[in-house]
Amino acid sequence: MPLRSPLYSQRSLVLTLIALLGAGFLATSLLSYYASRASIRDSIVNTELPLTSDTVYSEIQKDLVRPILISSMMSRDTFMRDWVVDGEQNPEQMTRYLNEVMTHYGAYTAFFVSNASLTYYHAKGVLKQIKVTEPRDAWYFRVRDMAEPYEINVDPDLANKDNLTFFINYKVYDYNNRFIGAAGVGLTVDAVIKLIDRYQQRYQRSVYFVDTFGRLVLTGAEGGPQGAHIGQTLSELDSMKSLVSQLPKPNSGSYEYSVQGEGHFLNVRFIPELNWYLFVDKREDGALSEIRHSLYLNLLICLLVTLIVLALLNRVIKRYQSRIHAQATLDSLTDLPNRRGFDLLAAQAMHEAQREPKPLTALLLDLDHFKALNDTYGHLAGDQVLIGFARDLESCLRHSDIVCRWGGEEFIVLLKDTDGETGQMIAEKIRRHVEQQDYAYNGHSLKLTVSIGLTTLQPDDTLHTLLSRADHAMYRAKQTGRNRTCMLSHSSSPHTVHE
Ligand code: GH3
Ligand code: MG
Ligand code: MG
Repeated sequence: MPLRSPLYSQRSLVLTLIALLGAGFLATSLLSYYASRASIRDSIVNTELPLTSDTVYSEIQKDLVRPILISSMMSRDTFMRDWVVDGEQNPEQMTRYLNEVMTHYGAYTAFFVSNASLTYYHAKGVLKQIKVTEPRDAWYFRVRDMAEPYEINVDPDLANKDNLTFFINYKVYDYNNRFIGAAGVGLTVDAVIKLIDRYQQRYQRSVYFVDTFGRLVLTGAEGGPQGAHIGQTLSELDSMKSLVSQLPKPNSGSYEYSVQGEGHFLNVRFIPELNWYLFVDKREDGALSEIRHSLYLNLLICLLVTLIVLALLNRVIKRYQSRIHAQATLDSLTDLPNRRGFDLLAAQAMHEAQREPKPLTALLLDLDHFKALNDTYGHLAGDQVLIGFARDLESCLRHSDIVCRWGGEEFIVLLKDTDGETGQMIAEKIRRHVEQQDYAYNGHSLKLTVSIGLTTLQPDDTLHTLLSRADHAMYRAKQTGRNRTCMLSHSSSPHTVHE
């Protein structure tokens, strides 16, 4: 199996974490978004829109009940019936009567049409004679022939929408139950339009009425869907295409359709008194924008959390790595760099010295008769002495020098920017310092000496050749009696410095 580099596994760990956190956060955010969207949709379709439609319907009923009652009383009024049966003698009487009804009850108009004379009386006088051939008078003949006692009609000849009027057309009978005409009142639909506007503004939904042919018959002041005006059919409107495909003719129920990718919820309700359909429409966007915002906020928070987690993780990994690195390059007993640490530092020092060029001196130090010290005082004493020696060694060196525990009781020092002569002085300083030092262990005062091999960097040296020369020099120091410094220059015979 190929070995993975630490960098690679670190990257894959980070990527896996990003993927896990991202997928987890995304999944929970989206799940909660879709859940709230479903419940909002549900409440719009099943509660909000039907409620609006109920309220508009009951307002209409409330507005219409009073006029229906008034018209019903007119149709039963004995004065009116007597006056007609007596041959419509004095039109002023009828006009006065109608004017009383209109002003007293606050109706928009009050009227009576006689079946015998086909005269249209209203509050201001005799309006006209009605004719079968006149389309505007068609309503009368329809009322005459219908089975029901009354109908509610909206004046089909509308000059402008302000004059849109509900008419209650009541059939009037004489005392022998013979049809003698139609009477009733009219009222403007201003109140209904105001109601529609109020609903549209307050709840951001469209409210309008459509007749059985799919024509817009009543809208708020600003028109119907997408500004359509009264008289237009739904199928004429581009924006209604997808709705009309589900709803070729109005039909009570709940619908969803879309206009240019934007969802709409719609409730349609038949109003039998008017023979119209009430449409209550709500844009999905308006309803869902709040939860969409909270989704974006959620995702932003998730992104931030992910970034923070990654930053923290990165810091932990970096710290861990540097600790591992330190552990791998430091000797655990003396805290000096070990061989691995030395290799890194030495390569750089050699490179610098050879490039400049600057002198560099290498020392190889081996403690004398250390085995005997171990054997006499124990291994722990040996360890203690090694630690003390390392500190003493450091105290004799500059901060910029490189020192390392090469292994066992052997140490290496690279003296930067130092020629052989100065190197020798430093080596002697170390040797003398160690020799004079007492190393305390368990009540004992231990003495120690060190043999030092010394050599200087040559232009064609590698670390290996440099160190083997230093080793050679140290070997000489041992051979020539220990506790001394021996220098080996390039291709020259060793030179020993005695104490
Ligand atoms: P010489 O003067 O020829 O260098 O004699 P020496 O006894 O120092 O040389 P040798 O190489 O025979 O022995 C080195 C000893 O150093 C042997 C080993 O047990 C001891 N030693 C090496 N590492 C450690 C250590 O970490 N702690 C202790 N206490 N002793 C160690
Ligand atoms: Mg040794
Ligand atoms: Mg030794």
